Amino acid sequence: MTNTDRQIQHWVEQTPFVDTHEHLIEESLRLSGVLDQRFLPCDDWSYLFGEYVANDLVVAGMPTADLRSFLGPGLASEAKYRMVAPYWDRIRHTGYAQALRYTFRGLYGENDLTPESLPRIAEKFREIAQPGFYSAILRRANIENCHVNSMQQIFMETEQPTLLKQDLSILHFCRCSAADVARVEFETGKQPTTLEEWLEIIDFYFSAYGSRAIAVKCQIAYSRKLDFTPVAKEHAARIFPRHVGKVRGHPAGPDDLKALQDFLFRYCVGKAGEFGLPVKLHTGYLDGRAVMHLDRVRDNAADVCRLVQDFPDTRFVLMHIGYPYESEFIALAKHYPNIAIDMCWAWIVNPMASVRFLKAFLLAVPATRIFTFGGDYEAIEPVYGHACIARRGITQALSELVAEGWIAREEVPDLIELIMHRNANSFFPHR
Ligand SMILES: [Zn+2]
Repeated sequence: MTNTDRQIQHWVEQTPFVDTHEHLIEESLRLSGVLDQRFLPCDDWSYLFGEYVANDLVVAGMPTADLRSFLGPGLASEAKYRMVAPYWDRIRHTGYAQALRYTFRGLYGENDLTPESLPRIAEKFREIAQPGFYSAILRRANIENCHVNSMQQIFMETEQPTLLKQDLSILHFCRCSAADVARVEFETGKQPTTLEEWLEIIDFYFSAYGSRAIAVKCQIAYSRKLDFTPVAKEHAARIFPRHVGKVRGHPAGPDDLKALQDFLFRYCVGKAGEFGLPVKLHTGYLDGRAVMHLDRVRDNAADVCRLVQDFPDTRFVLMHIGYPYESEFIALAKHYPNIAIDMCWAWIVNPMASVRFLKAFLLAVPATRIFTFGGDYEAIEPVYGHACIARRGITQALSELVAEGWIAREEVPDLIELIMHRNANSFFPHR
């Protein structure tokens, strides 16, 4: 490491992140210890493996039945350790696992999960969860505040609104699956049967929460292409009652569903524009295992062009750098003034690709068009480890750019400020 590298590392360590993407559950839910299949399947150290690392474990050969027991509440710590150890050993170098190892090191003072450290890690996991531990961990990670896309509610009225700024989730409004309709009906107590009634509900959410939301968020790319074409309202209005009928037991065709989703998605984008809210879109690699259709993922960048052209005054945030097609996302951000790229999640999906991406991005696109960190977790602890990896990657990218003569050392402090927090603070509404 040269003196310049060390100086850059110091600057990056000292600069706070604005964390533009998490799914954090509310602190009170976590502290309640009340187990919940979806949000808190167990309340011991293995909870930290539930997101992301679990996928690497299965891909490394762990039987899914074992994974279920490992992540469940029924087993003692030592039994869980015996179950995970052989697979942990095979995945310990992946970004997902490294985020946990940085977490063990930084929050628990333990270098790794071993038979010796296990009882201490189990104890620290319990000890650390005290009222106020979210803000304490974020402070340790030098994170100013987070944007949260709550999976608990369409818009979460959080207990900590200055620390956890909330996205308004439009997924349920436009994907329109049986579960989405059920969720909307549960939250509103209404049973819409016409498109007009469904739009009234969307309008209600925007007028109730639009001025408090930091952005709208949609991960519909998990279930379809991002090719949203204009659809006449009358057409959508004809499909909606049949579709809701289908949802309640009479299936309708994929073309109709696409048309309805196209209409509803574009309606929500229009509302977001009205309220000055950026639209955050999942793009690229899909979380999970054995489900990804890479052909659909590959088309994400090309598919969004129509949308960003049709809504030139709406600002779009394309998340996760579109990995593994990140070059195309550099081209998009370079070309469209209403696109910004978010590196959230990318640092742990593929740390090295993220370093290369950041270098290439900074030499191609205005430096204001990028946000460099989002942990993408429901649990607070691994956000710490992910932030360590992001800082390490940013340091490496900038050090290499200086060493290779692309940028001057004196330019680095300002760039760091921009990409780690100033961009986010000026791009998103002030809440
Ligand atoms: Zn996410």
